[in-house]
Amino acid sequence: MPIQQSIPFDNSFAKEMDGFYVPQVAANFPKPTVVQFNAGLAKELGFDEVVFNSDEGAGFFSGQDIPDNAFPLSQVYAGHQFGGFSPQLGDGRALLLGEVVDQKNTRYDIQLKGSGPTTFSRRGDGKAVIGPVLREYLMGEAMHALNIPTTRALAAVTTGEKVMRDGFQPGAILTRVASSHLRVGTFQFFAARQDHEKLKQLADYSIKRHYSEFANHKEKYLELLKAVQAKQASLIAKWMSVGFVHGVMNTDNMTISGETIDYGPCAFMDHYDAKVVFSSIDEQGRYAYGNQPVIAQWNLARFAETLIPLINPEDSDQAIQLATDELNKFPELYQDKWLDEMRAKLGLVDPKESDLDLVNTLFKAMDRQHVDYTKLFRKLADAARGETHDLFKLFNDKASIKSWVERWLKRLSQNNIALNECADGMDRVNPIYIARNHKVEEALQAATVKSDYKPFEKLLGILSNPYKKQDGMEAYEESASDGAAPYVTFCGT
Ligand code: AMP
Ligand code: MG
Repeated sequence: MPIQQSIPFDNSFAKEMDGFYVPQVAANFPKPTVVQFNAGLAKELGFDEVVFNSDEGAGFFSGQDIPDNAFPLSQVYAGHQFGGFSPQLGDGRALLLGEVVDQKNTRYDIQLKGSGPTTFSRRGDGKAVIGPVLREYLMGEAMHALNIPTTRALAAVTTGEKVMRDGFQPGAILTRVASSHLRVGTFQFFAARQDHEKLKQLADYSIKRHYSEFANHKEKYLELLKAVQAKQASLIAKWMSVGFVHGVMNTDNMTISGETIDYGPCAFMDHYDAKVVFSSIDEQGRYAYGNQPVIAQWNLARFAETLIPLINPEDSDQAIQLATDELNKFPELYQDKWLDEMRAKLGLVDPKESDLDLVNTLFKAMDRQHVDYTKLFRKLADAARGETHDLFKLFNDKASIKSWVERWLKRLSQNNIALNECADGMDRVNPIYIARNHKVEEALQAATVKSDYKPFEKLLGILSNPYKKQDGMEAYEESASDGAAPYVTFCGT
């Protein structure tokens, strides 16, 4: 079946949200070529691999060949970037082609990222290059395999042109799949203009799309705040549990759906350090690993502000009070979610009051110990099986971890399951493989410099199955050698 008829686009955003976007077309590209195709996701979404993983598919994934039932558009939004408000951002290099509904009846946006200039490009060229496109592809798939809500990659194409960045690099486009691209920044755009009607329309659309369970609730806008806050608390707890640093938690990069979005300068930390920052521009450490929960709450406060005129149109003082009461619950909400994650990672099966202190004491023991965060949890499972040697090797100061392990083993003995079983449960939630920075870099370099996608595909394969030992892949368990320069990532490339 030709591409023209093969995707049943159903464009609710284009139909219902006039004034929230500008219709747009892609730039012309000389020679689009599919370089990565996500066959598993394609199947779920009803994109036939034979049709789309092809030259014809390259036309589609580069916006050259747009089916009649698509409605390419760029969305408007605003956002706080590093704490400063930009009233006008918007999709500066992205086109929403439309929505598809998968076999499970879930609606997804199909978006091209890097498809050329739009009304919102400001000083940017609207393009993307292969390294960052593959980074987003890889990170999204890695997060998905770790059961963390995320946008995903359907395909990556090279465009056949060179794009100026740090020297000329191969131009590329990512096809991104998201539950939606509604952001805190989308609300901020209309709130800043005091356009309460549009805000209501946006809130109603968001509720219909993501939280239909309270569509008829009489306080549905307060419910929306609660629901987004709960989703974000859960999301950030999951990031923290795997050592993920998003790197650019601006309000335009925080979704209403609760999915992780925009893998620009993100990275996984190798060694535990609450202050770790990878992004070259995050000089103050605003988006450091340990700051992420606080920043999430700050972003949610910006979201809450936009909802004030909807929560109570007659009495803003009352609306502010209600919203503030909700926001104040965030630290506890987050801590509960985080403790759930940590309990699972540490095999604490039947919750006990003392678990929070136990977990906090472990983090204190890790402080300034240069502990490999990912390895730690697998070695703890081994310790539960009686092998403590490799665990203690991870720490410079062995005394504090030794006394902690004694306490922890005592706690495990209160579980109503055997130690071995408990250790197996830990192994099911603690990854062996994360996207180690030097391995990511190696894979992106090979693709960028030599058009060699083999290292990328190998890494993608390993990260798609992170909990199970894969023979011969020991090198992918290791961080870069200690002498390596600190890892630095870059935004918006
Ligand atoms: P990000 O840091 O990727 O979340 O992007 C922040 C804003 O900058 C968004 O409005 C993007 O659309 C825009 N942007 C990033 N890179 C480019 C580019 N190369 N051309 C145009 N706009 C861009
Ligand atoms: Mg963004």
